[in-house]
Amino acid sequence: MLPTPLERAPRLSRELGVEVWLKRDDVGSLGLAGNKVRKLEFTLGEALGGGAKTVVTLGAPQSNHARATASAAARLGLQAVLVMGGKPPAGPPTGNLLLDALFDAEILYAGTEEWAQLAATVDALTQERANAYALPAGGSSPVGALGFAAAYAELVSQLESARVQPRHVYHASTSGGTHAGLMLGHALARAGPAPVGFDVGQIVPDAPGLTAWLANEAGALLGADLSLTRHDAHLDLSQLGDGYGAFTHAGIEAIGLLARTEGVVLDPVYSAKGMAGLIADARAGRIDGPVVFWHTGGGPSLFTAGWGERLLSSASRRP
Ligand SMILES: *Cc1c(COP(=O)(O)O)cnc(C)c1O
Repeated sequence: MLPTPLERAPRLSRELGVEVWLKRDDVGSLGLAGNKVRKLEFTLGEALGGGAKTVVTLGAPQSNHARATASAAARLGLQAVLVMGGKPPAGPPTGNLLLDALFDAEILYAGTEEWAQLAATVDALTQERANAYALPAGGSSPVGALGFAAAYAELVSQLESARVQPRHVYHASTSGGTHAGLMLGHALARAGPAPVGFDVGQIVPDAPGLTAWLANEAGALLGADLSLTRHDAHLDLSQLGDGYGAFTHAGIEAIGLLARTEGVVLDPVYSAKGMAGLIADARAGRIDGPVVFWHTGGGPSLFTAGWGERLLSSASRRP
């Protein structure tokens, strides 16, 4: 359902003293949406082109990528196999896991949270099953990153229509495909806002290096000869806190602020930390002119154990 809306956020802007625009990838027509749909458009296109019947991928149990893959697979008549880190959680499934079950994905718990081992399990299953297509963590392959190069062009055209010229587009980052695609789109457009990613998980060993590699490889698929380096990636670690899925006060505050000023819902694991980075930069006077926040989705994980209590206790402390 493209283009996703580009909206002004007037009350948030007033609160921060900075003109903020929201790029709404949290809305869409497929499986509660989110940024992973952009990558799946291209990767599952490749899978179908190669005659795939099954798609195999991996993630943490509350992975938005795994859920988006399950929903897209349902829509396309593919079988989704999701290799999950750790053990099955106690009790009935919640959040993304509930959706994975509704989309009829096959879920396998690897019993470990080691990403290398999960990836090896994905490879083995892909070999075992006939006509299977493997997706890496977050769907961040070069083909997947193409989705965000296209998304960048979409944003530039919306900014032109709105006659607004932001210098930066902020977003949450982990597996690198979003940042890589935006970097590639920016390099190809030679204009428009520069992407600023906030790494919310450090799940990959060298995120800037991986991101530059993804951008160059995706560019090569388009016939572009780019040589971006890890120094071209802008991945800020200031909102990481204790790592992937760990709560931060700034993230909790960002969820409350966006909810009460704009009626827009952020997720605690990714978009809240990205928005917390924008809020911190705005308050420190580091944002010059208008700015775009790319809302990457992720809402379903709000409805999992622990978050409700934290969010409400923080709301009751607000002056
Ligand atoms: C996966 C995800 C991100 C990060 O995107 P990557 O391409 O993996 O870096 C950001 N926000 C949400 C909600 C996500 O699910």
